[in-house]
Formats: sequence, C-alpha cells, structure tokens
Amino acid sequence: MSDVAAGLAAVRSHIAQAAVAAGRAVDAVTLVAVSKTHPAEAVKEAIAAGHRVFGENRVQEAAAKFPALKAACPGLELHLIGPLQTNKVRDAVALFDVIETIDRPKLARVVAEEMLRSGRRPRVLVQVNIGREAQKAGIDPDQADALIAVCRRQYALPLVGLMCIPPAEADPAPYFRLLAEIAGRNQLDVLSMGMSGDYAVAVGLGATHVRVGTAIFGHRDVP
Ligand SMILES: *Cc1c(COP(=O)(O)O)cnc(C)c1O
Repeated sequence: MSDVAAGLAAVRSHIAQAAVAAGRAVDAVTLVAVSKTHPAEAVKEAIAAGHRVFGENRVQEAAAKFPALKAACPGLELHLIGPLQTNKVRDAVALFDVIETIDRPKLARVVAEEMLRSGRRPRVLVQVNIGREAQKAGIDPDQADALIAVCRRQYALPLVGLMCIPPAEADPAPYFRLLAEIAGRNQLDVLSMGMSGDYAVAVGLGATHVRVGTAIFGHRDVP
C-alpha cells in the first residue's frame, strides 16, 4: 500500500469511528482530500486507492494540476477551499465542482454572473470567519444570515452549506457548534468543518465534509 493509500485508510477509519460514536451514519461524512502543494502523482495514488473528492486552496495551482486528472477520472470532484479573488472567478467556475469560500456580496455577484455566462453551476458554500479573526477570510458570524439571504434571493446561487476554519490554538468544539447553529437556522445541509487536527471532533458535531491534507499526504514543504 502507498503512503497515501495508508493515510486515506487511517483517516477513513477515524471518521467512521467518530460517526458511529456520535450516532451518525458513516456515509454522512465526505472526506475532502486536500492535495495543495502536493504533486499530481500524489493525487493519482489517492485515485488509485478509490478516492474521488479533492480540495485545493489556490485556483492557479489547481488549474495546473487538475484538468488532466479530471479528464482521466470522470467522477473526480474538486473543491475550492481557499480565498477567491474576483479576477480568478472565471477559472474557478470552469474548474471546481464546489466553491466553499463565498464570503462577501461582491464575490457572490461575480460568481453568479460567471455561472450565467458559462452555464456551469458549481455548488457553493459560504465561508464564515467563525472566530472573528482579523487575518482570516470569511464573513463575520453576525453577518452570515444576511450574506446567505443575498446569495439565495439576490443571486440565486446553488448554495448548499457553510465552511469554517476555527482559531488555530483554541478548542474547536464551540466554533463547530456555532457553525452548525447558523446552518440549522438557515436550512443549510452541508457543514464543511474539520482538518487533520480536529476532524474527529467536527464529525461528532455534525460535519458533512472534513478537509484533510496532512494526515493523508504528509507534511507540506511550502506554506
Ligand atoms: C490546508 C487546508 C486544509 C487541510 O489542512 P491539514 O491540516 O493539512 O489537514 C483544510 N482546510 C483549508 C481551508 C486549508 O487551507
């Protein structure tokens, strides 16, 4: 078994344990394998191990790596999990199947316009800056309901859920609970929360998607 296949198997097994412990169905949680900074070869190993859902945080890097992988593997699903600038929206809508990082009305508008222009409709999530950190992307939790309403009513975006990255050094549980609460009161089903260090906690608190890089692909050389 390759290191990537072993990493995937270990993470899948931990997700299953956390789901069972929480009384949730194991298949209620989708593992998004975060392949940023890792070469296409690593993604191919994951594909060979049966994995199909991947996450990248930079449009340019994903555009260099994934078109060939997608052509070779039709069931592949690619998530954008990093900040999106409006000048990259055209490439992002063309390449990604899910855009997890809608965090401002202007971005929602530009993405909606590009969907109309191109005819492609990747599903979208609103990213919430759940710890209200100055350096982090995402909409403030107090403004999340309003942005969700704008995405739906003003721009008719295919909005399915919310995404967050809790503060690095804190207990993530209260932040995951807050994200679940915002999603619940807005009837949003998808909760993208949990990374290598805290995905089991996230699964216990309702994550439908966990975004795991290091625990599958190993440490990243480039930040
Ligand atoms: C890099 C990244 C991840 C994966 O982080 P790991 O700690 O390597 O699992 C998850 N979510 C986002 C938004 C990321 O940028």
